[in-house]
Amino acid sequence: MKKHRNIKRRSFLKASGAASATALGGCQKIKNVNKGIHEFLNRFEEVPVPHGIETWKTTTCNLCSSSCGIRARTIDGRLVSIEGNSAHPVNRGGICPRGVNGLHILYNPNRLSGPMKKTGSGDSSKWERISWDDAMKAVTGNLKSLRTQSPQSLMFLHGKPSTSLEVSFADRFMQAYGSPNYICYMDGHDYYDSSMLDAIYLMQGINAAPSYDIGNSNFVLSFNTDIFESHENLMQSLKAYGQAHSERPSGRCRFVHVGPRLSASASTADKWIPVRPGTEGVLALGVAHVIIREDLYDYNFVNINCSGFEDRTDESGKTERGFKSVVMSEYAPSDVSNMTGVKVEEIIRLARDFASSRPALAVGNRTQTRIQLAVHSLNALLGSINTKGGILFPPDIVLKKEGEKSSSIYGENNTDFLSKIISSPESPVKALFIKNANPIYSSLESALWRKALDKIPFKVSFSGIMDETSSLCDMILPDCTYLEKWNGSAVATSEGYQVFSISRPVVEPVVECKASEDVLLNIASGLSPEVAINFHWKSFSDYVELAIEGLFEAGRGSRLGEEFEGTWVRLLEKAGWRIPSEGGLDEFKKTIIDAGGWWDPIYYYGELSRVILKPTGKFELMPAIKSMTNYSFPELTETDETREQYFALHVSKPASLAALTNPNSPWMLDNITSVLTDRWNTWIEINEEIAKKLGFKRGDEVIVESDKGKIRAEVTPTKSIHPEFVSIPAGMGHVIPGEWSNGIGSNAADIMSAVRDPVTGIFLADKTKVKIYKA
Ligand code: SF4
Repeated sequence: MKKHRNIKRRSFLKASGAASATALGGCQKIKNVNKGIHEFLNRFEEVPVPHGIETWKTTTCNLCSSSCGIRARTIDGRLVSIEGNSAHPVNRGGICPRGVNGLHILYNPNRLSGPMKKTGSGDSSKWERISWDDAMKAVTGNLKSLRTQSPQSLMFLHGKPSTSLEVSFADRFMQAYGSPNYICYMDGHDYYDSSMLDAIYLMQGINAAPSYDIGNSNFVLSFNTDIFESHENLMQSLKAYGQAHSERPSGRCRFVHVGPRLSASASTADKWIPVRPGTEGVLALGVAHVIIREDLYDYNFVNINCSGFEDRTDESGKTERGFKSVVMSEYAPSDVSNMTGVKVEEIIRLARDFASSRPALAVGNRTQTRIQLAVHSLNALLGSINTKGGILFPPDIVLKKEGEKSSSIYGENNTDFLSKIISSPESPVKALFIKNANPIYSSLESALWRKALDKIPFKVSFSGIMDETSSLCDMILPDCTYLEKWNGSAVATSEGYQVFSISRPVVEPVVECKASEDVLLNIASGLSPEVAINFHWKSFSDYVELAIEGLFEAGRGSRLGEEFEGTWVRLLEKAGWRIPSEGGLDEFKKTIIDAGGWWDPIYYYGELSRVILKPTGKFELMPAIKSMTNYSFPELTETDETREQYFALHVSKPASLAALTNPNSPWMLDNITSVLTDRWNTWIEINEEIAKKLGFKRGDEVIVESDKGKIRAEVTPTKSIHPEFVSIPAGMGHVIPGEWSNGIGSNAADIMSAVRDPVTGIFLADKTKVKIYKA
């Protein structure tokens, strides 16, 4: 904040002038920070400070998939603060800036005041505020007639996929309606979250998100993962890091970060090893080479539980080289050093330290399956699969859902439906529900999305705020925020055990919103008796309570905050006993809701038959090798004629910005930009020496150009980035009428190349090359 008070008006005007002179994607605004935040705070000056009855309620933050427990303080029904819930095992009282910002999301003056309907078309279209009754009649009528003709032509695009009940409820709606087209969608800024899942599936055959047991590990080797920035389990990782660095009987954990940039995660580490962009997987296999050569691997685990380690000869006499042969012949430290830029001695020392500090854990970069596969092979070599201090696979929680099965299609790997919609004379999708997703802003294929949306006759958005995608819809039914509605999320802790975390309304809705689940329930009851029968509840809160019944019937675990004598509870539970701390079902539900959730703090290590589901029953090592073969690393050349330097582009996900498809919050913008720039603007981190060579100084406005497009950014020279690498943040550059988001900074997705991995279909993050020149 201090820096902003020193902002020079001249430099602000100069920047503004430069911005208005450009033709890049419309007019870009660079906002004076103090002005923006004061505008926001002034809105509250007329609101008297409440003096009245104070209440505290436990609930869950739903702003990312961590699902931290929070406590909401209200005075006379008005929310005045949000704190972490110290009894919640996910965050133990901690809360990140995004979580605190919930207050600003709730009271954001740009929230839609109620349902909106678009009238007219093209340039003459305008939005009209309508009543909920009229909105429900219009949507139900439309869907009713569509269902009699082609129910499958209703599509539901649900962003922020998670294990929460809102997802299973929407899936249930689509199944009852008769459409298989329920798509859980991760967009351009979240696409990389699935690369770890793909790697685990290819090597272990299990479709499950892992937990990293950092708190019990002796050595965490991170290959450019943003574990302490925007990882899906941010607060848990931070909590586990504190535990790992405390005085433990096993000693302090060492944390080494490998990557081309001194990120927030790298700066938390005991050591940062800079590496050429995109070569983290090569370094992982170089570490594997030393571990095998020096016989430091877990011989028993590899021989009994892994497949593909040794060469194998098939019945026809043909020999296939195994993991060991390939790693020993192609990933010698000298070769790896040439590719990665890491010194030979450093590679050898790293491998020895890592292998001799078991339990040790390798955590991969979330951007690429190729890197994840190489990194995960290290976990197998050290036998860190489902062991304390290793990588864990939480079992499912038993929630009661009345015969539901998941039918979700995961959309980020397969957006073929876009081309189908565009190329068919008549769109096969006739109606679209879109929730928690803003692909026009964040997809790397936003142009395709725009064309596809144009062809879909009836589009309904559940966005609570006008964003780039909802502005192209026909109707907006604003969802309530997580502080005004019910939900429940199954979430795993870093120690592997399961938590069911409950959200409930802590205030009355601030605007005329409705929980989207209650809207679906309402629509279902108006469609037909056979649809309605699947939605016999009065409201979504009954569905949440039904889920809790499953926990009661399972006879395990207890309300949050209740500590266990772990060992004897484990023995009793194994023998089929339950520790009843509550009376009947009703009391159980009330206790669980008041406490903010339920947990089962027992985790069973080992159980390899549960976590390795390949047909062979073995952990497959060869995918790590195959994915690396024939992979072309981005060429970074200096063109002689133009003397233009090309860089590998990295797009960071600052915790404060990236999770917000529409940030529109001055406090969040201030929170992140105050570290690196004077203004609310997109910055570009460039190696200090390179910036000097190119004649750039701090604060210069530059054009960052890829083969897809160009954006503007503000130069931030730094020693902490590899010379071949530049980094910009995701989350700015919106072009919709949000006072604190519209036109501020640039949208990284506008220059990110949409190149997909041919095997997994996910976008390859290291395929964007950019050049930079003065604006
Ligand atoms: S880590 Fe996620 S769930 Fe936890 S407080 Fe932050 S935004 Fe909320």
